[in-house]
Amino acid sequence: TTATSPSFSSHSLLPFTRRRRRQHPNQPVSVRMEQSRRKDKIVVILGATGAGKSRLSVDLATRFPSEIINSDKIQVYEGLEITTNQITIPDRRGVPHHLLGYLRPEDGELSAGDFRIAASNAVSDITSRKKVPIIAGGSNSFVHALLAERFDPKSDPFASGSSDSSSICRDLRYDCCLLWVDVSESVLFEYLLKRVDEMMDSGMFEELSGFYDAVKSGLPRFGIRRAIGVPEFDGYFKMYPPENKKGKWDPAKKAAYDKAVEDIKENTLRLAKRQIGKIEKLRDAGWEIKRVDATASFRAVMMSSPEKRREWREIWEEQVLEPSVKIVNQLLVD
Ligand code: ATP
Repeated sequence: TTATSPSFSSHSLLPFTRRRRRQHPNQPVSVRMEQSRRKDKIVVILGATGAGKSRLSVDLATRFPSEIINSDKIQVYEGLEITTNQITIPDRRGVPHHLLGYLRPEDGELSAGDFRIAASNAVSDITSRKKVPIIAGGSNSFVHALLAERFDPKSDPFASGSSDSSSICRDLRYDCCLLWVDVSESVLFEYLLKRVDEMMDSGMFEELSGFYDAVKSGLPRFGIRRAIGVPEFDGYFKMYPPENKKGKWDPAKKAAYDKAVEDIKENTLRLAKRQIGKIEKLRDAGWEIKRVDATASFRAVMMSSPEKRREWREIWEEQVLEPSVKIVNQLLVD
């Protein structure tokens, strides 16, 4: 912890108090041991940015009584909802979401250890209400921290440059089903490039203008200031401060804007690639990850004809949602 990268004291992060299962004092010891050994059942949705994790989590929540726990380290913050692609309130369709947009940017960095505590408390809270926790988000180190039976806060399970998976704990604390929403790389990349343009059109630039802080932009980054879009536009806002509303749209300004957008695109593709590499690493370490293929549905989304575009939802239901429902059913009946 440094002065510029404060970390939380864990209790400030705990929106839930840990609930312990009640055990009847007259129950035989063997029954009590069996109960204490039974693991909570949880659904975990993995996938690259943009692959449809949020959509699948809400779709599943309409089939099973469940609540969603966010596992994206950037989306835990409030304040940059468009830039960080936080699921909107209408898209949540009334399903409760936990650990989403609940921290202020100045609150500091949420470590994997902090997340392990906060998310496991959320899991206990949700299961105590007889609902299924669905974990959805792109930070695989957070997912590892939550699931690993043995967790070392000082070790990075995805330490860069190493291809061995010895730092990943194979044993899991929960009875899990791990779903990987996957989209072929070329289709996902084409979609992500379009998505950046759409995000810019739907207010990302204005959101970033309001967030720009000339002082903080020169300091080391932590938390939400690492969100893709913030560093990329800091250089632009330094030259063309948002408060200078009279600034003309000259070619140099346009070139600086285009460069920032290009950098966002490049960094988004890089993030997606890294995320897929991490999921593969978890699988290579022995995690049983079930892959569902959303490629055809994404192809349909990007079709130019409106009829074809309308088909995407049917394809999604057939190729992504239904196979996922089957996998979750298996977990719940076992
Ligand atoms: P991991 O936690 O999976 O080991 P990591 O520590 O690199 O990886 P990621 O969650 O992969 O963390 O995020 C890496 C970077 O990608 C973030 O610091 C941020 O720049 C960017 N990023 C991740 N998620 C988002 C998001 N939802 N919106 C914007 N940028 C994001």
